[in-house]
Amino acid sequence: MKALLLDLDDTLLDYSGGADRSWAEACAACCAPAGIDPAVVVAAIVDTRRWFWDDPERQRRERLNMLGAWEHIVQFALERLGQSAPGLAAAIARDYAGRRRETMRLFPDALDCLTELRQRGVRLALVTNGDTVQQRDKIERHGLARFFDTILIEGEFGVGKPHEAVYRQALRVLGAAPTEAWMVGDHLEWDVGAPQRLGLSGVWVDRGGRGLPPDSAVQPHRIIRSLDELIAPAR
Ligand SMILES: [Mg+2]
Repeated sequence: MKALLLDLDDTLLDYSGGADRSWAEACAACCAPAGIDPAVVVAAIVDTRRWFWDDPERQRRERLNMLGAWEHIVQFALERLGQSAPGLAAAIARDYAGRRRETMRLFPDALDCLTELRQRGVRLALVTNGDTVQQRDKIERHGLARFFDTILIEGEFGVGKPHEAVYRQALRVLGAAPTEAWMVGDHLEWDVGAPQRLGLSGVWVDRGGRGLPPDSAVQPHRIIRSLDELIAPAR
């Protein structure tokens, strides 16, 4: 491995871990003053989130402005409940964004892995989809920029994973051929399948140990539960 492309959210950074609690706390803080039962709103948001992000086209559009996306989710949830409290959706979304930001942490294995890979002289690219402001803020807050030779953010680059231009751009900057490079991440298609089709080796991060879906068209070169496995001596 001469070069490694790494995903950010739910690969280096525990992005999803604090989501449920942050929604519950944001609703508790904002709904009571409006005289609305927070538990009912939380339940509606749980359903709405899934529906909202399951549509690939909407996902692609909305992930470029996460604060806006969160406000839309709450708006849809409140509409389902027949609630139209003015400004409530924006207030909940803002409160949620703040809590989520405070909650996010690097996974405990992230810094050791990045440090070791740098020491070994592996060229590193961070390749992440989404909102420029959010992604830059995460990179800054968690001190990640120093590890990477290049950082590709969908909002800055113009297209995101799984568009092949993204991986090709990372390889070009790293000066690596596809066969000299690996990509590691938690998304089977974006971080494994798409780079594999270009000739990279794909490593799927399965932190929960769920295993591949039985019908998975993507077959990773490796499946790891922790980034420690990436730097462990070969056995
Ligand atoms: Mg990810």
